[in-house]
Amino acid sequence: MKLILIGPQGSGKGTQAKLLASKLGVPHISTGDLLRGATGKLRAKIDSYIVAGNLFPDELMLEILEKRFSEEDCKNGWILDGFPRNLKQAKMLDEITRVDKVVEISISDEEAVRRLGGRVSCEKCGAGFNLVTMPPQDSEKCDKCGGKLVQRADDTEEAIRKRLEIYHRETEPILTRYESVKINGEKSAEEVQKDIQRELGI
Ligand SMILES: [Zn+2]
Repeated sequence: MKLILIGPQGSGKGTQAKLLASKLGVPHISTGDLLRGATGKLRAKIDSYIVAGNLFPDELMLEILEKRFSEEDCKNGWILDGFPRNLKQAKMLDEITRVDKVVEISISDEEAVRRLGGRVSCEKCGAGFNLVTMPPQDSEKCDKCGGKLVQRADDTEEAIRKRLEIYHRETEPILTRYESVKINGEKSAEEVQKDIQRELGI
């Protein structure tokens, strides 16, 4: 099965993609992980865009994905996470492969703001916590090293709402291109995963 998982930030999409991938025995292909893990010539190419502050070209992402899809572990399918983020990318993807279904994990904007607004990390060791979903013992101190917990600058409510708006405007329209299932993401991770598997009939 070739699946795309979409959902706004805070929907738990990455966690669900991993769980589903292990259930189906297919790889979870996260474009973020692919870019972070790249080595050699590809690494240099990716860095040249990032260092120059340029937008990462869709063509290069497609090239990376096409190569990944050709690997042995993808012969029974994959779960794609992080791409496509807009209709243009979806059209490009459709030129190199056939997507069976899109799984949309849906949460309200309010819930996304609540979840993402709770994210904090340790100034000293970088450990991440969430005051809402994974609270540390002391809301101001790191459980691991006692360092001060701070919110990321891009996790202000304004910044979160802006990212959600882009998701609604640019990413959701890809649903018009594919058969899709919509899952309520405002439940526990286990329940969400059960709902996904039931909707997919697996
Ligand atoms: Zn710490």
